Amino acid sequence: MIPAKFDYVRPDSLDEAVRALASGSDDTKVIAGGQSLLPMLRLRLAYPDKLVDLGGLGDLRGVRDAGDALEIGALTTHYELTRDPMIAAHCGLLAQAAATIADPAVRHRGTLGGALAHADPAADLPAVITALDATLIAHGPSGSREIRPADFFVDFLTTSLTPGEILTAVRVPKLAGWGYRYEKFSVTAQAWAVVGVAAVARRSNGHVERARVALTNMGSVPVRALAVEAAVSGAEASAAGLAAAATHADEGTTPPSDLRGAADYRRHLAQVLTARALAAAAGAS
Ligand SMILES: Cc1cc2nc3c(=O)[nH]c(=O)nc-3n(C[C@H](O)[C@H](O)[C@H](O)COP(=O)(O)OP(=O)(O)OC[C@H]3O[C@@H](n4cnc5c(N)ncnc54)[C@H](O)[C@@H]3O)c2cc1C
Repeated sequence: MIPAKFDYVRPDSLDEAVRALASGSDDTKVIAGGQSLLPMLRLRLAYPDKLVDLGGLGDLRGVRDAGDALEIGALTTHYELTRDPMIAAHCGLLAQAAATIADPAVRHRGTLGGALAHADPAADLPAVITALDATLIAHGPSGSREIRPADFFVDFLTTSLTPGEILTAVRVPKLAGWGYRYEKFSVTAQAWAVVGVAAVARRSNGHVERARVALTNMGSVPVRALAVEAAVSGAEASAAGLAAAATHADEGTTPPSDLRGAADYRRHLAQVLTARALAAAAGAS
């Protein structure tokens, strides 16, 4: 279907983009890679009266070394996440998960900022940045602010970004000494997750010193598996021990039932995938 009519601007600077957004109506939206927004326009599920295209804001693209963290621009594409050497060296979990998103065409256009701002519970990167304990950076008419993942993802397709705000970057702590794994179960290759599990773990003397685990598609927002993290902390890094901790994975979750799987099936998948992700992250045999 052809989208409904809208105005279009392509600013050259962040301030100009914020002004264009702030001066528009509540129905003004930004567009980045267009991989989620364009299908919604074509299906007429969204009717913005103006689109502010972020494509001209080169400063929002790429990866910067910020000491003990990497600062990744919101316009960095999924493809770039899979290829950047600094991400490979310091936050390999992001590269691993980005490589599972859709197909090369979507990965070349879709952006980190768009995937997070869209807040689809089935999307992979929200759980990944939750497990990485990242910080989101937003810029609006009253300046910049930093937002933790737990405060950013509010509900299905809903974030705490205010109408005039643009997500500009994500700061991801470097994973020195941590193992990681993103486990994703899809019905077909290159498809959305039925359930996904992002795990990072630090091991010491054959035991798991600390772990963080976040789940994709087990609720309306990414869910931190806190009961698993507590059970695994200090536990022996053996496959059997980690599998026992993983039986807590669905605690506190509210998985959907849909054509790809019933809620009970997702609960089972969350446990199985958490055991696999933890074993890989902690290097357990
Ligand atoms: C066929 C297909 C398969 C897919 N499969 C997967 C998959 O397996 N896993 C997965 O995780 N994703 C998947 N996706 C989604 C894909 O990852 C999108 O790229 C991503 O969800 C949106 O990024 P974008 O840059 O295209 O955002 P856009 O479509 O441009 O925007 C999406 C929303 O975010 C807002 N937005 C964008 N950028 C910003 C910003 N910087 N600040 C504030 N708001 C912003 C827009 O206003 C809009 O509301 C798939 C998409 C398609 C088309």
